[in-house]
Amino acid sequence: MALGLQSSRRNFLVGMGRFAAAAEVVRLLPGSAIAAEAAGTGGALCPPPSAWSDLARGVSGGVLRPEDPFFADVCRPNNLRYGATLPAGIARCVTASDVQSCVRWVKDQAMPFAVRSGGHNYAGFSTTPGLLIDMSKMAGAEPVAGKDGLVRVLGGTINSLVYKQMERLGRTITHGRCDTVGAAGFLLGGGIGFNMRKFGMASDLLRATELVTADGSLVDADADRDSALYWACRGGGGGNFGINTSFTLETRPAEPVTVFNLTWTTDLPRVLKLLLTELAAAPDEFGSKISVTIPSWQERCDKVPLSLSVLGQLHTSKATLKDIFASTWELADQRVVKENVPYWQGQDFLTETTFPYYYQEKSSYMTAARITDEAIAAMFDWAARMPATSMPVSFKFFQVGGAIDRMEPTATAYVHRGYDWLFTIEANWWRPTDSVLLIERALEWQQRFYDDVNRRTGAAGAFQNFPDPSLADWQRAYYGENLARLAQVKAAVDPAMLFTFAQAIRPA
Ligand SMILES: Cc1cc2nc3c(=O)[nH]c(=O)nc-3n(C[C@H](O)[C@H](O)[C@H](O)COP(=O)(O)OP(=O)(O)OC[C@H]3O[C@@H](n4cnc5c(N)ncnc54)[C@H](O)[C@@H]3O)c2cc1C
Repeated sequence: MALGLQSSRRNFLVGMGRFAAAAEVVRLLPGSAIAAEAAGTGGALCPPPSAWSDLARGVSGGVLRPEDPFFADVCRPNNLRYGATLPAGIARCVTASDVQSCVRWVKDQAMPFAVRSGGHNYAGFSTTPGLLIDMSKMAGAEPVAGKDGLVRVLGGTINSLVYKQMERLGRTITHGRCDTVGAAGFLLGGGIGFNMRKFGMASDLLRATELVTADGSLVDADADRDSALYWACRGGGGGNFGINTSFTLETRPAEPVTVFNLTWTTDLPRVLKLLLTELAAAPDEFGSKISVTIPSWQERCDKVPLSLSVLGQLHTSKATLKDIFASTWELADQRVVKENVPYWQGQDFLTETTFPYYYQEKSSYMTAARITDEAIAAMFDWAARMPATSMPVSFKFFQVGGAIDRMEPTATAYVHRGYDWLFTIEANWWRPTDSVLLIERALEWQQRFYDDVNRRTGAAGAFQNFPDPSLADWQRAYYGENLARLAQVKAAVDPAMLFTFAQAIRPA
């Protein structure tokens, strides 16, 4: 009896989640067929049971429905802000043919859907009230026979598995720090990491990709075949052109690196200015991320101060860390340095373990020469005015430049070349600990910080892998001069926008 009550309460909550999510679809896609269906009494979100059975027969990893154990765990996104949008079902794809079955099915059923690999999209674009096409069982990374240094990564593989395989092969790529991010979302949106100044963006290393397009066909895209689609998959952003079932990457030998974490606690504005100026002149072998961390309200009670740190790595280089850090080296309060360690051992030091929480992140690209003392002072002034939530927040500077700038902005869909720093400002919170009012104030603070700092530094653009649902002109910000060509590719492969979400590329 108790079980029955629990079960019906859970179904009620699931139903409420779907209702809220359907309302979200209507808001996001006014006038679309999906919106009309979702606004009705169920429509596209409630296909007959036989349709679910048909789908299950075509998907080798099976289909989960809300009554199945662990359903809510499987569909929980990294950003819990979007965790209430529960799908009607989850298709667990293992093969490209499973993906084709899903594409056929969502079209037959006029069902909204989203594609998910690692589930780390910042803006909830891999959540849906319809069918969640879960790629996470399509995982693996193998060398391509007869092609030295090429590795084929399957469409749903998460970073940790890619890294394990690279380590076994003695190879590496440009990669991030978070183990659970999906390779698909990471690569399709450009992909940044400490190797990018030496090897280029992760998407610069993409040599071919296989994807299921809106008409259900499985397409091989590379420099010679479907080259426009290949161009678009190198930075055009996940979920826009089809469902990628594999990525072929050019890898590099994994050679020893020096890894480090330096921290400063005094005179932070001066140190930050020096870092942003002096590190910008570092050789391409150097990769870094500067973080200024603003304490949570509990930490403020404990008198935890603002902190400034630089995390990164140096490949073999004529310059030493001391040369590169120049005047900030001696000013550091703490220097943790592991010199010349095997590459993947060094990555253990740099790896980031994260857990799902609530957040919004805003980003833009800066050149060092335009970051004035006055702009730095404004950043710290904003930091002091943060309406503190129960989670610390950081503003960060990911060091770009180097090999990234050796390709033209139009050479691939990733347009942001010619900058020194990728700036980000976070808003982080927890529910229900932080009130709705406090969260609204934190988001308003974030927006004003971002607008003011962008104005003062002439910062431009935004990183498509850090999608920001509050960004007004996101098309220009993510894609700049490449937007028109991306819209043409979209028109060629998906004119009816089968693949859609709030910030999806529109067909020309
Ligand atoms: C903790 C954390 C750390 C991060 N670190 C980095 C970093 O170091 N460097 C960096 O560049 N980015 C980083 N990111 C951003 C991350 O790369 C992007 O959010 C990326 O899109 C996530 O990919 P995913 O597969 O995990 O996410 P998902 O939410 O599964 O997918 C992201 C987008 O791609 C689509 N998609 C997913 N799979 C496929 C597929 N197979 N084919 C086509 N479309 C697909 C989804 O529909 C969605 O629109 C980080 C994000 C988080 C949360």
